[in-house]
Amino acid sequence: MDLEINDVKYCSKCIISNQRPSSVVEFKNKSEDIKPKITFENGICSACIWALEKEKINWEVRRNELELLCDKFRNKNGSYDCIVPGSGGKDSAFASHFLKYELGMNPLTVTWAPHKYTDIGWKNFQSWVQIGGFDNILIHPSGKVHKKLTRLAFENLGHPFQPFIIGQKLIGPRTSIMYDIPLVFYGENQAEYGNKIEDNYKSTMDLSFFSEANSDELTIGGIPEATLVSDYDIKKSDLNMYKPVDFTMLKKAKTEVHFLSYYVKWDPQEMFYYAAENTGFRPNDERTQGSYSKYSGIDDVLEWLHFYMIFIKFGIGRATYDASQEIRNNKITREEGVSLVHKYDHEFPKKYLEDFLEYLDLDEKQLWETIDKFRSPKIWDKEENNWVLKTQVT
Ligand SMILES: [Zn+2]
Repeated sequence: MDLEINDVKYCSKCIISNQRPSSVVEFKNKSEDIKPKITFENGICSACIWALEKEKINWEVRRNELELLCDKFRNKNGSYDCIVPGSGGKDSAFASHFLKYELGMNPLTVTWAPHKYTDIGWKNFQSWVQIGGFDNILIHPSGKVHKKLTRLAFENLGHPFQPFIIGQKLIGPRTSIMYDIPLVFYGENQAEYGNKIEDNYKSTMDLSFFSEANSDELTIGGIPEATLVSDYDIKKSDLNMYKPVDFTMLKKAKTEVHFLSYYVKWDPQEMFYYAAENTGFRPNDERTQGSYSKYSGIDDVLEWLHFYMIFIKFGIGRATYDASQEIRNNKITREEGVSLVHKYDHEFPKKYLEDFLEYLDLDEKQLWETIDKFRSPKIWDKEENNWVLKTQVT
């Protein structure tokens, strides 16, 4: 893994740049850490290499493996036999519906609530439960604490989504222990998009993402737990939802966390069609600001700021993420992707500006000061009074 990448380079197959950060263990993420980035081989990113590998997989064999796994856990007495965490977006809608109606499982769906639902996000969540037909537990962390942590993560890491991601990864294994349901299914493995390619060859999530033998090292918003308690008016007990699951309890509960994308060939557009047909999922009636898409990541208003900050820190915005994936899945050409990125990647999501300010309790000047603080000099130049990207994909 190259941690000293200085030159911005773009994949010759898709349009992702070598600055794309990989997923990290978020409850240990400190501001000074150097983030691992996507790897390149002969000018091609690992996500594109993986897309080619996927073509060689015998998906029928994988489907059989999934059926065997389900047989092992399937409950004949009617109680829940697996947990599907999700928001009711296209991916969790597909995962839960496929497991319940095609494989005869009885999933309990669990939702780690978004910071603030969009209208379409709330409608889709309702449709998931009402039309898809699932039992669901919607879990909200304390809004007061979550807001505070989100603001710290925004100000200190430029990563307003960090506390949410921590909870999202923990909610499956945590409910597995709470309800004594050992099997947990998440949808797609992030390695599909450029984490370590080896991660795609195993069906289970690395334990380090959600569990620890000793969880004293919790760090949120770049601030260690002890300081959050001593200086930020947060109680130790307020942080329970963000703590990694205790390793011993996990072992006792025999929890297994699997990615469905190991067993089923994952294609976001196909998941969208499936969810639209089976759980009443609907795309937005307007494109996502910062991109051209209408159906990905549309349930939480803060997700728009999350992607905008990735653009600020790494020079790749939401259109780059969407287009790269669609190029890999042969939905658009690289040339179309480049033009979509030039058109939309830089667009600030002003539709939700008031929501960002209200949620983070900042005024607009403070918001922009924080945003500008995270512009990497490797990515940005200031010409007169305007920020311009040093490099753009061509
Ligand atoms: Zn690529």
